[in-house]
Amino acid sequence: MSEAEYIDLRSDTVTKPTPEMRLAMAEAEVGDDVFMDDPTVNALQARAAEMLGKEDALFVPSGTMGNLLALLIHCQRGDEIILGDQSHIYVNEAGGMAALGGIYPHPIKNQNDGTLALAEIRAAIQPEDAHRAMTRLICIENTHNACGGVPLSVAYTQQVGELAKENNLRLHIDGARIFNAAVALNVNVRELVAPADSVMFCLSKGLAAPVGSMLLGDRSFIARARRLRKMLGGGMRQVGVLAAAGLVALEKMIGRLAQDHARAKRMFELLSPIQKIKLDAEPASNMLYFDLTDEVKLDVNQITNEMKQRGVLVEAADVRRFRLVTHCWVSDADVERTAQALAEVLR
Ligand SMILES: *Cc1c(COP(=O)(O)O)cnc(C)c1O
Repeated sequence: MSEAEYIDLRSDTVTKPTPEMRLAMAEAEVGDDVFMDDPTVNALQARAAEMLGKEDALFVPSGTMGNLLALLIHCQRGDEIILGDQSHIYVNEAGGMAALGGIYPHPIKNQNDGTLALAEIRAAIQPEDAHRAMTRLICIENTHNACGGVPLSVAYTQQVGELAKENNLRLHIDGARIFNAAVALNVNVRELVAPADSVMFCLSKGLAAPVGSMLLGDRSFIARARRLRKMLGGGMRQVGVLAAAGLVALEKMIGRLAQDHARAKRMFELLSPIQKIKLDAEPASNMLYFDLTDEVKLDVNQITNEMKQRGVLVEAADVRRFRLVTHCWVSDADVERTAQALAEVLR
């Protein structure tokens, strides 16, 4: 079976650039972006800033770098950040904040809906005391990947923003999938990020661009981010060829995210009758998680292999847990085929 024929539900990062993106990439006007001379990058940054209602934006190679830049700017060495124990920044970014910034994470429990309880955030803020690290920053994640792709509401985000202000802290949003959140909640993305001092979102996930993320904040924040990006080796030259795909992502790929969400819900419906798995709550965005019950004698690797033989790529999220992610290369028919294959493998 050729690569292209697999139904790939491992992640929305597997999305390949659309034909329209490839055309835009081939025709992109470019310049040296380290000189800020790349018109396509400049256009992408201006467009992203406008869409999110922030002063300025910076194109970065990855979401991980975008988050790291934000943390490095908001915190000095030895400063503390409050973030979720299931958050991507805490779990999946190779400890960059500690290795590269000397930043001390103060994880608190992510609730099932992806939020951090306000009372727990409040309790985690360090008092003025020479024994304690200084709390500088709160990070929240929207949609929350490990909590099921759940969107965090505008009201919650505003409450965290107020709490941050009252305590002279900054707020960063890891919004890798912020447009999925905006679509799921049917709100303007600006409202979801208004309380934040900085926000990162990915072009390379469900928006299907091949590479890249955006970091947003006020002008002085982005100026510092540009310097740090260079320091970390992320200053890129004629990178308009990638920014061109990013522009197509922003113009053409957001409106269709609702289809991915509908397909995740459809998958949920189709998998619901399977007794041998325990589904999480009905998906609100493009991810569906389930656990294997004790009745299932196969382990996750065996299931992954069996599914692959049936043309479906899945990846375990834990020793007895799977995450399936829908995206623009997964059709209605693919959803049906996947559900059939899983029922067959578990039979
Ligand atoms: C993917 C992801 C990132 C990091 O993006 P990369 O481009 O893979 O470095 C950050 N946060 C969340 C929630 C993500 O899902």
